Amino acid sequence: MGTRSIDSDGSQDTLNRLDHRDPLVFDTHELGRRPGAMRKVSRTLEAPEGFGIIDVIGVPEKSPIELELRLESVVEGVLVTGTADAHVEGECVRCLEPVDFDIDVDFQELYYYPESDERHRARTTGTEDLDEDSEEETYRLEGDFFDLQPVLRDAVVLALPLQPVCQDDCLGLCSECGARLSDDPTHHHDAADPRWAALQGLSAAPGDEGDGIKNSDTREGAAENQEK
Ligand SMILES: [Zn+2]
Ligand SMILES: [Zn+2]
Repeated sequence: MGTRSIDSDGSQDTLNRLDHRDPLVFDTHELGRRPGAMRKVSRTLEAPEGFGIIDVIGVPEKSPIELELRLESVVEGVLVTGTADAHVEGECVRCLEPVDFDIDVDFQELYYYPESDERHRARTTGTEDLDEDSEEETYRLEGDFFDLQPVLRDAVVLALPLQPVCQDDCLGLCSECGARLSDDPTHHHDAADPRWAALQGLSAAPGDEGDGIKNSDTREGAAENQEK
């Protein structure tokens, strides 16, 4: 990019916290600040860590993310509209089989010019809770640069299923032996478990077993019945 010399210029470091070599940091210098100006940027980068839901599903670190961005200069800042294509990996919450698929994520964010921030705050301080909300969601350029990482991460995480499944009708695992039931829908066990044996006894002989359980629950009532 045209401003590489600034990267090695130590005096800029105090001004800009952003790491200009970070592939998710973009330079808007060439876009300029004339409202209406527009530039398209394509970039393929390695996914940083944390693009996903921990231990469930996410974009593996260092796997490619393809970005297409449209940067538009508007009065208050730079409007960034984009899409990201990425591959996600995780495991089925029912049967624990690996799942992986491609996602195509859309996002849009307005990065305010540094000096427009004061005006923005002044407008939103009218309502105090509104101000709290807007502070969280307001992004700003640092010099000519903006950091896409938080915006992209939020967009990716929102696009992920909270309960990924290998197939919509995944039957999960057998609670007794852990077999994957979708591989064998007729899978069953022959009353090996004493709990199942008891249940089967109940349905087979409701008279005997049923009374037995009732007696233990309502001993007093049973005693009265016996007296009569
Ligand atoms: Zn599954
Ligand atoms: Zn089983």
